Amino acid sequence: MGVRVNAVVYASDQRSARESVAAAFGEISRLDQLLSDYRPDSQLSLANARAGQGFGLGITEIDPAFADALRDSLSVAQRTDGAFDPSVGPIVQLWRAARKSQRLPDPAAVSAAVACVGWRDIEFAGIANHPTLTLRKPGMKLDPGAFVKGYAAQRAVELLRSRGIDHAMIAIAGDISCSLPPPHQQGWRIAVSHGGSAPQRAFSLLLSNQSVSTAGDTEQFVEIDGKRYSHIVDPRTGLGLTNRAAATVVSHSATTADALDTALCVAGLDQFEVIMARFPGCEARLEASTSDGAFSSRETPGFRSLVVPDPERQPLNIHSPTFTH
Ligand code: ADP
Ligand code: MG
Repeated sequence: MGVRVNAVVYASDQRSARESVAAAFGEISRLDQLLSDYRPDSQLSLANARAGQGFGLGITEIDPAFADALRDSLSVAQRTDGAFDPSVGPIVQLWRAARKSQRLPDPAAVSAAVACVGWRDIEFAGIANHPTLTLRKPGMKLDPGAFVKGYAAQRAVELLRSRGIDHAMIAIAGDISCSLPPPHQQGWRIAVSHGGSAPQRAFSLLLSNQSVSTAGDTEQFVEIDGKRYSHIVDPRTGLGLTNRAAATVVSHSATTADALDTALCVAGLDQFEVIMARFPGCEARLEASTSDGAFSSRETPGFRSLVVPDPERQPLNIHSPTFTH
């Protein structure tokens, strides 16, 4: 995943705390090996390499955790009308190359990449403990970038809970999952930043048994001919987002939070209410620039009740959330 992971746990003794955190890091590392698109030998890369090869050759047996993460992702893809799409790999690869070369991708290559994307062509089969995955279209590629950190944070917290550690918080860059608060506290205080120019740059949330994820274009983008293209792309046009956007989602599912913040950036302010109505129990805030360059924001009715006054209000880095306890 290429990012720093922070864990905070409360346990009855230091030894069990250390052992449990080591096991949680082990699980995060295992998921990274299964689901990385940078590792050619990951199950995800294997499935990508077999895309479009038809019945027989095209089927990959995958770990139940991989299937679990992908199923949650597909549910978000469906409910965001494909604004989030886990098969966005071919488009993301074009924009990764554009960031390196500082040149816009060729429009024909963009159209070809868009044609290879489509969450509806992801197919599961097999039985519970032996799921299989088929990517039906040739050239299809899964991209774990917008869901694997959330999923891994959630799994790590679940693993800690299964070892009797009920007061824990795992932060994988901007994807944070927590169980019960620190002793005698009402929640984990999580500081969130929406980046430099957003009106509400930094705020803190008080969370318990929840996950939070933040997405935006503050760190990763490419500027070509004076136009700024985000690392978040619209799967339907194949283009990097050019408006400024930052979204924070709180959910009981960290995979949902991770995928949904990306989707909200793509779908934009106009679609905010329609999309959030399909995610009962999730709270979100979206800040985005409109066509005249001004910022506007939307949030769900319950979002405010999670925000707490920040004692030391400092601009924070979106990828290094801080937490106090
Ligand atoms: P971050 O990686 O900064 O935490 P996100 O959770 O929004 O932010 O994930 C962004 C990554 O997700 C991109 O780098 C890319 O790999 C992938 N991605 C970009 N656009 C989409 C999209 N529309 N749907 C699914 N994945 C996307
Ligand atoms: Mg995300």
